[in-house]
Amino acid sequence: MEKILFLAYTQDDGLLPKAALETLNAAIDLASKLQAPLSLGLIGDNVQAAADAIAGCGAQEFFAVEGPDFASSRYASDAAAAEALARRAGATLVLAPSVSRFARSLPGAALRLDGRIETHVCALDPGGDSLSIQRWYYRQRMIATLTRSQRPWFLLIDPGVFKPWEGQQGQATVDKVTVALPENARRTRFVGFEAPAADAQTIRPEAELLFVAGAGWTKKQADGQPHVKEAEKLIHDFITKAKASLGSSKSLVDQTCEGGEVISLLSHLNQVGQTGATPRHPKGLATCCHGEEPHTVGWRFINERRAVNLDGSCGWAIGKADVLYVADAFQVMAKVNELLGD
Ligand SMILES: Cc1cc2nc3c(=O)[nH]c(=O)nc-3n(C[C@H](O)[C@H](O)[C@H](O)COP(=O)(O)OP(=O)(O)OC[C@H]3O[C@@H](n4cnc5c(N)ncnc54)[C@H](O)[C@@H]3O)c2cc1C
Repeated sequence: MEKILFLAYTQDDGLLPKAALETLNAAIDLASKLQAPLSLGLIGDNVQAAADAIAGCGAQEFFAVEGPDFASSRYASDAAAAEALARRAGATLVLAPSVSRFARSLPGAALRLDGRIETHVCALDPGGDSLSIQRWYYRQRMIATLTRSQRPWFLLIDPGVFKPWEGQQGQATVDKVTVALPENARRTRFVGFEAPAADAQTIRPEAELLFVAGAGWTKKQADGQPHVKEAEKLIHDFITKAKASLGSSKSLVDQTCEGGEVISLLSHLNQVGQTGATPRHPKGLATCCHGEEPHTVGWRFINERRAVNLDGSCGWAIGKADVLYVADAFQVMAKVNELLGD
């Protein structure tokens, strides 16, 4: 019989991030379908508040590796903590959210336990009593179904796939697992965060809406002139008012290294598509973007798609958007910003 361990880190407020609550839901569902016991393994400075917040999740055991050594990301201590928790729980399946801290450290823990690991898992199918998982390859163009006999099997679950767990708080009894870190595991020290100013942060994975800007924003308009500064203000105002995440076409972000006037809000991190990101948002609005296949392949996980383009026969018109507004995006977005008010 499988034994399932859910692993998570506490964030700065002592609670679990949304991605962890999503993985918790996946772990609970899997445990019930496999009729397997579920344990939780929490890592952080002090995990009691996080454990209490999910006390009603039905797990049989709560384990923790706690203390200042485990408060922040560091490969040596993170891998040691995950290894100790998996050993203590006797886990055959370990589910953790696919966040950078686990993506870096869990492969090491899997190796030490002679286990195997899958990254970017987006579906779990218990199908009887053997588990198979799914993940995408080649920029979300091919989906693979995998199964393994080797245990423990570590699964990094992609954020945005499962609904976050919601349920009763309570008082969890947490069994502390001691990890004696050798001095050389403390060589790397966490100094602090360097975060961009809040309004410079344009990539917002939790946003309801993905707003995509295409190269048309910097092209010559009806008056024969480009209006890049006006475009930048319209885009900035919209994503600020709508709290939208900002995506871009490749053509637009490539302009940053081609000279000429550019939209300063954008970097290659904003690029959506085959050679960019494949974000997950309930809605998407593309503006001044042609909707070519290498771009729209990055929209695979956008549920409702709309586009504004002057060209009624652009790529969005051939079934890639639910609604295409054949209109001038400068005029449309100015009006939308006005309607959104302050
Ligand atoms: C191997 C490979 C990988 C690629 N990977 C990616 C990728 O990851 N992501 C990506 O985006 N692209 C990618 N591309 C490039 C892709 O094929 C397109 O070239 C690119 O997406 C075009 O960007 P665009 O639509 O913004 O620009 P354009 O094709 O220049 O389109 C601009 C659009 O703006 C419209 N427009 C202009 N003014 C206005 C206005 N006032 N109002 C409304 N509409 C207006 C025009 O009608 C036009 O449709 C890749 C290409 C290759 C070969």
